[in-house]
Amino acid sequence: MTGFGIDNLPYGVFSLGDNTFGGDRRRIGVAHGDDVLDVSAMAQDTPFAPLLDAPVLNPLLAAGRATWTAVRAAVRQWADDPAAVRYPRADLTLHLPFEVGDYVDFYSSEHHATNVGKIFRPDGNALTPNWKHLPIGYHGRSGSVVVSGTPIVRPQGQRKGPQDPAPVFGPSVRLDIEAEVGFVVGAGSELGSTIDVADFAEHVFGVFLLNDWSSRDLQAWEYVPLGPFLGKSFATSISPWIVPLDALQAARVAPPARDPEPLPYLRDVEDWGLDLELEVRLNGHVVTRPPFASMYWTAAQQLAHMTVNGAPTRPGDIFASGTVSGPERDQFGSLLELSWGGSQPITLPDGSVRTFLEDGDEVTISATAPGPDGTRIAFGEVTGRIGPARSSGA
Ligand code: MN
Repeated sequence: MTGFGIDNLPYGVFSLGDNTFGGDRRRIGVAHGDDVLDVSAMAQDTPFAPLLDAPVLNPLLAAGRATWTAVRAAVRQWADDPAAVRYPRADLTLHLPFEVGDYVDFYSSEHHATNVGKIFRPDGNALTPNWKHLPIGYHGRSGSVVVSGTPIVRPQGQRKGPQDPAPVFGPSVRLDIEAEVGFVVGAGSELGSTIDVADFAEHVFGVFLLNDWSSRDLQAWEYVPLGPFLGKSFATSISPWIVPLDALQAARVAPPARDPEPLPYLRDVEDWGLDLELEVRLNGHVVTRPPFASMYWTAAQQLAHMTVNGAPTRPGDIFASGTVSGPERDQFGSLLELSWGGSQPITLPDGSVRTFLEDGDEVTISATAPGPDGTRIAFGEVTGRIGPARSSGA
């Protein structure tokens, strides 16, 4: 079972990977089994051609919920059609599936926030006083969002340990991952308007996996008082396949109990917890299995909070969950937590030892979710390999 059955049908953008006869032309595809359905070809002479015969998903994203449902019904028929245009998935080049608009990253796992609080602020309260009243987030850099497989260059910058007399400059020595789940906005909202928790599904098109590469040494020195900056903005990788929200109905679960009860604009109207099981592999070895169902704040609450001040949204805007960490050691979603701030190195099955990432390391995040009738819905993997820092010219 591939996890890419008829009840999944995630969207992506592919090319045939050669530059002859237009083979490098980017077009929209849908993953089905081990193949990719060429929906740009199948949509010819249908009303959906302007949405599907495109090099990015943005026109489809902008079309809204009613059209998404109609397109999905058509795609389902094409997937059942033996004459449909399809290619072996392994042969294709996959691209960033949409033009990324604004990017917000949240911090919504109570286990992750508690762990990081203990590691970064051992003398204070692990959770900040606002944490259970609002989904904390920051605006990231959408221009550095890259598709799975893009090489990751080790960032350089300033760091200053607590005992260092002065900051030093150089390649990051505490390069980390954050295993996260991302959401892409389809139908946007105007400046001055809000998106209620109840309207989440009208605005959000689909779900993907995201690795928020993080330089802990840069981050620790720069983050007070305005939050993440260069420790995050050098690269963020996303999976190439966007799983439609419609494919995740069987994955919906009640979120954890909230205490204290949040303000009225953040109260759940429907259950938008999602029972995604994530898996992170480092150089092929599974190092953690974070459970997304344990997240304190749902994506519906995050979107409501993100727009409650009247901030607009546009097709292609993305927001990410924050690092997904469960309560157990083998469920933590970052090396910062897995190695407890670097103080407890982890040993991989091949005998290699890691606190943070070394040049040449490859990290892959995958996930599955319950589908209808006992099936599984797979997410496309997001993978990236660390390359050495570029010469600073200094
Ligand atoms: Mn993050």
